[in-house]
Amino acid sequence: MSRTAYIWSTELQTVADQLPANVGRSSMVHGLIHALDLLEDRHHDGARSGAQQNAEQIDADAEVEQDEDEYEDQEREEKPIAAPIPSLSGRATIVSPYERFASETELKRYHDAAYVDYLLGDHSPAAAAAAAESDSDTGASSSSRPRKRMKSDVHGLHYDCPPFPSLSRYATLVAASTLTACDLIANDLTDVAINWDGGRHHAMRNRASGFCYVADAVLGILHLVKTGRSKRRKGRPRVMYLDLDFHYGDGVAQAFLSPTAYPVVIPDGRKPPRPPQVLTLSVHHSAPDFFPPGNKHSKLTEGNTPHPFTLSIPLKSFPSASTYERVWGSIESVRMAFEPDYVVIQLGTDGLPGDRIGQYGNWSIDQPGGIRCCIDRVKSWNLPLCVLGGGGYHHPNTARAWAVATAALIDKELPLQSSIPDHEYFPDYSPSFTFELSQAHVRDENDSQHLEAVNQVFSTISERIGDIVRAHTPKHE
Ligand SMILES: [Zn+2]
Repeated sequence: MSRTAYIWSTELQTVADQLPANVGRSSMVHGLIHALDLLEDRHHDGARSGAQQNAEQIDADAEVEQDEDEYEDQEREEKPIAAPIPSLSGRATIVSPYERFASETELKRYHDAAYVDYLLGDHSPAAAAAAAESDSDTGASSSSRPRKRMKSDVHGLHYDCPPFPSLSRYATLVAASTLTACDLIANDLTDVAINWDGGRHHAMRNRASGFCYVADAVLGILHLVKTGRSKRRKGRPRVMYLDLDFHYGDGVAQAFLSPTAYPVVIPDGRKPPRPPQVLTLSVHHSAPDFFPPGNKHSKLTEGNTPHPFTLSIPLKSFPSASTYERVWGSIESVRMAFEPDYVVIQLGTDGLPGDRIGQYGNWSIDQPGGIRCCIDRVKSWNLPLCVLGGGGYHHPNTARAWAVATAALIDKELPLQSSIPDHEYFPDYSPSFTFELSQAHVRDENDSQHLEAVNQVFSTISERIGDIVRAHTPKHE
């Protein structure tokens, strides 16, 4: 039986509900999971000494730290006083986000200082009106001159990422929720930590993007690589980030893109460069006008890539569970080659049918290759696991999927034919009032040729990853 932490608080839910792209989603998700009686309503003590807060800040310029020796010279952060999560049968333990992680300092461990300063500013309607007035005074809105580039433009706080009144608290608390999840697994206080309000995988270091304001996954992974331990070997831990959202996980991929170019063939007797601590793998839909704009890293990774630790599996329209099933072997071979000590999975649900933003999805919850199957497989790796949310714009379906995933993580059966329990949002599950989704009657465009190409190239890449990792794995350990 594993220990499972569930990150939640009424305040986290309240601020997450304000996210403009997902207004009210957090309440629906947590409301359903609470109503299913999957949670132990006991808040975990997150107290910790002040040493944590004074820990050395990660150099913001070094998005990926490559030099292992540098790490070994750093003092480890003091262990938390918090008690371990108990092993409970069929329940996860609620943990409130640790307030000490909800700070400007924590955001600046990755984000650009000017962006954080702007993000944490006053976004009340009065402040927005004053800013508009100020722009008007300086002629920014005059049609006779070029429009002045406002700070909101520079930092991406417009279009799909508008500022909103509780943005400042939202940003710090969502970051804190994922940091808490990662802190719990880094300190072996739990085996699994779930944070459905996290997984904002498009946020960039210096700007908001794609409904994402804060790179909580990046912050959590940075915390893991700095404070976690490898149980299996000497040296720093390795983290595998697996992104199953329907959109490419560009923000996280970019944050951990290794500056090292790895040789395709390792010359006899030579040691390849050290593997990075973080590998990112995104399985996502790709099409010319589909967000985010493509780059060379969002295409199918090539076998001879100089970056075999930044991986991408693009899928054509309407990928069904059987398509995910067929590429799972590639995910598995990467995991075996990289030998991670921790896994962070982003489980966006916008690939399910009927999603208003995903649109081209046809994934499922229960079939082989569906969400529950993926969760079961990741769980079978027996590695400390952080499970994050992400996209998902059909809120009842997202709540259904994450409820089933939560149940799977605590070894509880939740057949899709089960009735939705009576609770505040019950009417939103009409007309089925079960966990079953309406399937889309569309053709999965991922043909055998595409899927074979994926598996072939990932077989090559996995071999390369294994060679690099083995070259740096001390023998007899
Ligand atoms: Zn998405």
